[in-house]
Order: sequence, then C-alpha cells, then structure tokens
Amino acid sequence: MRSDDSRLAGTIYEPRRAAAMRVAVVGLGALGNELVKLLGLVGVGDVLLIDPDRVGPENSTRCVFFRSPEALGQPKAEVLVDSCSRWFPGTHWQGIAAEIADVGWRRLQGRDVIFAGVDRDSARVELSRISTRLHLPVCDGGLNTADYSAGRVTWFPGAGGACFCCRLSGRRRREILSSWQSQAHPCRMDVETGGWSSTPTLASITAALQVELGMRWLLRKETGAINVDIRLDEGPRLEAFNVPQSAECPFHDVVRWDTECNGTFAEILAIGQAVQWEWPICLKARCQGCGIEFAPLVRSVKLRREGHCPSCGSTKLLELESVREVPSGNALAKKRPEEIGLPADHLYSIREERMGLKSI
Ligand SMILES: [Zn+2]
Ligand SMILES: [Zn+2]
Repeated sequence: MRSDDSRLAGTIYEPRRAAAMRVAVVGLGALGNELVKLLGLVGVGDVLLIDPDRVGPENSTRCVFFRSPEALGQPKAEVLVDSCSRWFPGTHWQGIAAEIADVGWRRLQGRDVIFAGVDRDSARVELSRISTRLHLPVCDGGLNTADYSAGRVTWFPGAGGACFCCRLSGRRRREILSSWQSQAHPCRMDVETGGWSSTPTLASITAALQVELGMRWLLRKETGAINVDIRLDEGPRLEAFNVPQSAECPFHDVVRWDTECNGTFAEILAIGQAVQWEWPICLKARCQGCGIEFAPLVRSVKLRREGHCPSCGSTKLLELESVREVPSGNALAKKRPEEIGLPADHLYSIREERMGLKSI
C-alpha cells in the first residue's frame, strides 16, 4: 500500500519538509521507542539511532518494538532499524550500537536536531558537550525517577543557549566533569542505575511532546533554552519556563571542532600544533589484582565504569596513561585515530602550542 501523507499537509509536519529532515535519536528505551514511532509516522527522511544496550525482559511493558520474542538479547539499535525499516520504508534508518561518547562526530554533524531519551546524567552531559561543540539543538525528554506522573521536555539550542550542564548544581557538575579528566584514578565510578517505576503512558505523552514541541522550536529557530514540566496527577498541567545559561558552565567557549583525520595524526599537523579530542583515551592501565599492565584503548570514563583485567578479570584497575591530545612531534602522531581507540568519522580541534606552555 502506498501511503498518502496529504493529511499532514498544512501542518508543522509538511511532508516535503519532513522528508528533508535528518535527525538522531539517542537512548532507545521507553522514550526512544515512542520517538521513532512518531518520527516514522510524520515521515522524517533520515533517522540515526544510537544506544549501546540490548533488549531485556524489563523493556516489554514500555517499548512497543521490543515485544517480539526474537528481539530479546539483540542490540536495541539493530532491532529498531529492522522494525522501523519495515513499518516506515519512506525513512532511511541507521543504527549505532554504542554509547553517545563513542560515536564519531561526523555522524552527528549537520543533523537538524538530536532527540534524547537517555537515563543517565553523565550521558546528558556528554550530549551537551556535543550539542555545544557542534552547535546542534537537543530536544531532551526525561521521566521523573521518583514520580511516575511527572516528566519534562527541554530544548537546548546549542552553543548560544543554555545546555543540560548549565542546569546542574555546581557540585554535581564538578563531579561529572572531574570524572572526564585524564589522570590516574584508582576508584571505580558509581554506576548510575535505572530501576524506578514508570509507565508507558507517561513515556508516550513525553515523547509526543518532544516531537511536537521540538518540531515547533526547530521551525522557529528557537535560540533560547526552554523547559516544559509535565504533571499528570494534579491538574493535569504543562508549565514552560526559560532556562538561563550558567556563567559557571564551561561548555560555551568558541573552539573550532571541525578537523577531519582520515590518515595519521601527523598528516593533519604542522610543527608546533597539537590535535585534540573531547574525551581522554586510556593507553595504559595496571591491574591491581594480578599486577599486569595492558593497553585498554577505550575512553577513561568507560574503563572506570566497566573495564576489567584481560588476564584475571579483576575490576580494580589503575590508569597509568591517558591522552586527549597528540602534539606534532609525539610518537602517537604516527598512529591513525582508530589505532588508539577513537571512533571512525570523528572531528578534532587543532591547537597551536605556545612556547614554554605545557599542554592542558
Ligand atoms: Zn551550559
Ligand atoms: Zn589482573
């Protein structure tokens, strides 16, 4: 059956405009499932789906696309690409089964908007960094973890407006950002867990508002950050307010992150320059269980969260060497980004090294 999209003509989902849109959906749980359903129905042309996790039995009450028995245990991104390609063949669906911080920035650059339905603050902060660096709007959805009747939708316009990190308390911001730093860090990070109560109805309502309001904010090129709180128990009511940029948020500087690296680092560096990327990669670690040293070649944050010794399996690891930049004369300059664990299709910043000044 050929679909007839004439009912969408004259709405914010004008078919020709929707077909030209390229968006990403980060987080493919309860909100993500509802988001992709709506993006498919309104005929968005290209959707990139990002989530590192696999479908579990707990997904079945809130995720319509994960209910088939074959989906269990499969990567969420792959299951959704398969189902959505069948249900919505007019949309080009692609999936990446990885954390947002492991996605190359060229895959995200130029997207009209990122719809987010992630459940960890650390992932939201990583998204804020990407949003402000690449100047990409994020339309973020959240379900209240302590109250199944409350949710929110927030528009973060990119570098010029507030980002998620602006909204954090100074203490929480320091806590998350210090976990990014490239220094020896023997403690394991606390895992932020889900496990709260939430309903498919609130997820559906929140995701619907994300798509509807996100599309309106996008069309009017909204440059301020806006939060809409949703409360269903009393009222019900929607409450919108503007979110100011925080002077303490470090995400609004104007560094250019637009350099591609398709060969070795040396090929893009002149003498006296250094290439930088956002998240430190751990090059060398020591197992505190059996004492061996090994090369993890993963983001330091990821190593602290889920790394283990390749020899004895211990999770007690000590980071010995982490990097987030390579100067032109360094031995690492002879490597390609993928050889040290950076994503393919990434974007970098080039820094001029000043005499006598040590790198970050
Ligand atoms: Zn900010
Ligand atoms: Zn070991």
